Amino acid sequence: MESESVAKAAHCLLLPFPCQGHVNPMLQLLKRLEHEGVRVTLVLHRFFSKKFHKIPTSIATEYISDGFDNGGFEEAESYKIYFQRSRQVGTQTLGELIEKLYRSGNSVDCIVYDSHLSWVLDVAKRFGILGASFLTQNLAVDSIYYHVKKGKLQIPLLEQSVLLPGLPLLAPKDVPSFLCDNESYPAMLDYILDQFSNIEDADWVLCNSFYELETDVAEWFTKILPKLRTIGPTIPSMFLDKRLEDDDYGCALLKSEECIKWLDERKKGSVCYISFGSMATLNEEQMGEIACALRDSDCCFLWVVRTTEECKLPKDFVKKSEKGLIVTWCPQLQVLAHEAVGCFVTHCGWNSTIEALSLGVPMVAMPQWTDQTTNAKYITDVLKMGLRAPADEKGIVRRESLKNCIKEMMETENGKEMKKNALNWKTLATKAVDEGGSSDRNITEFVSTLLDI
Ligand code: UDP
Repeated sequence: MESESVAKAAHCLLLPFPCQGHVNPMLQLLKRLEHEGVRVTLVLHRFFSKKFHKIPTSIATEYISDGFDNGGFEEAESYKIYFQRSRQVGTQTLGELIEKLYRSGNSVDCIVYDSHLSWVLDVAKRFGILGASFLTQNLAVDSIYYHVKKGKLQIPLLEQSVLLPGLPLLAPKDVPSFLCDNESYPAMLDYILDQFSNIEDADWVLCNSFYELETDVAEWFTKILPKLRTIGPTIPSMFLDKRLEDDDYGCALLKSEECIKWLDERKKGSVCYISFGSMATLNEEQMGEIACALRDSDCCFLWVVRTTEECKLPKDFVKKSEKGLIVTWCPQLQVLAHEAVGCFVTHCGWNSTIEALSLGVPMVAMPQWTDQTTNAKYITDVLKMGLRAPADEKGIVRRESLKNCIKEMMETENGKEMKKNALNWKTLATKAVDEGGSSDRNITEFVSTLLDI
């Protein structure tokens, strides 16, 4: 009887774009779907799977190829070549995987794919499988790109501000960087815009945001795309509840006992956490300014400096002391959930942003490129839970500016106000994913359609 019900459970492939910031929310969604009784297989690009620290053995995993099995983007001569070949080889190898699974009695009912892999929908349709596009950026950013793709917003955006439905007025510094400078990464921009080439044909469009966070743009977007549903934050609810001891969500995240232990020994709200995510690279001058700001500030700091960035640290900078700790990677959710952390200096990647707001941590925004500029605008002007550190004419945030922002955040009345706002967003995020909340209802609806197949 039991084996019959297992055999009948809907089988869903989850196919993330091969970058840490895209894989994390997909893994979180995977956990939720499994919890709801959906049979799930994670599909990774072969080159990316080699970078994974650890894939839990409990997750069924399969592989496809992008034609660059050793190094992915880094192996390709250019982004243009990578995107062309990965689409072509991906289409072929995903088709072969679906056939293999079918032959082994594991036929696929639905593919949840990162919206950046729009070609997956064509494969799904060819096999008569349902397709759910998963937007891992927020609705504001998606809406801006959607307008460009549909020819309703002309680029490059040089001088003029932009006013779009449900969004605040955006100056050129606030729109995704590729739209002001579409010459530097033309292939990347084309690829990003391509996520909206066939989105109307997807059976579902899921987004890692929540209704209460982006109500106006959500209202507008669902009129255009009636299949759009907000399901975020995808962060496991146990993090929002701080029931961290229940955590079995190791996945891509390196467990660092060291930094949690170090935080345990610090006072409540006394630590500034700094991270620029998995991709952003800073120049040596900027790294030096950050190092001096942290050294001269009155607070403790936990700074993530990836191995590839370590050589840019000032030579004499101490990596572990009473005041500060530098690590190459940390379990960010656990760090943000830790009561010692008082503020987060961030590059404003969407995952970092939604993680911080869901855990009630105010931010100092230092956006670098892509959607981070728009997220910074939201953090400061819409969510009102952060400051943007001003950069000079060379684009460098100087030590004094950063030090002042951290001080304002950690020590002033204004900082307290932003912390209060952050906690308010945390409450709303928690409600959205709690039973009966807006995101919870949307996931339940998605799952029940799957289970009815
Ligand atoms: N992250 C982490 N440990 C770190 C730094 C980052 O676990 O030391 C995670 C973080 O929680 C987030 C992701 O990596 O889920 C980074 O995604 P984001 O969108 O913020 O930035 P990206 O890396 O895509 O630029």
